[in-house]
Amino acid sequence: MIRMACKDLQINKPITCYSLKRNGVTIRRLRGESDVEIQHAARWSDPGRLKTYDLSSQDEAFKLALQKRGIIKADKNTGAILKTKTCPFCNETVGFGEIICPKCKHPLDREIAISEIKKDDEIHQLKQSISNMETKFDNIKSELMKEFTREILKAKSG
Ligand SMILES: [Zn+2]
Repeated sequence: MIRMACKDLQINKPITCYSLKRNGVTIRRLRGESDVEIQHAARWSDPGRLKTYDLSSQDEAFKLALQKRGIIKADKNTGAILKTKTCPFCNETVGFGEIICPKCKHPLDREIAISEIKKDDEIHQLKQSISNMETKFDNIKSELMKEFTREILKAKSG
């Protein structure tokens, strides 16, 4: 029935019951209908099914959250709302979607900036502990070599 309708409308793109159902859920969700209403319309008894179908609104929310944090660039239609921001390092006015300041090359998001600093600290600490370990290892090696040499000399003389 659906396939025939598609043929009549000359839709070449493969279209399935699944994609039709999913689109229906998304439209209903955007209209603000409740889960129960959507479930009823989609004839699902299990509320868990809805979560797997209702991916697009989650994706949108996630994208928006990332945009607000300046992690990803805003879409053209949402970009009009999120215009510009100021670089906390050099006060340059930059596009809201910018991650790195084009002027001073600092990360623009405060959270990102903090995490960058933390990362640098962690790397520094790791490097420090590795070099400490290397020093300890060298000490142990030279101690063992001394011990070994003593043993050899002892064996030769004895
Ligand atoms: Zn800057």
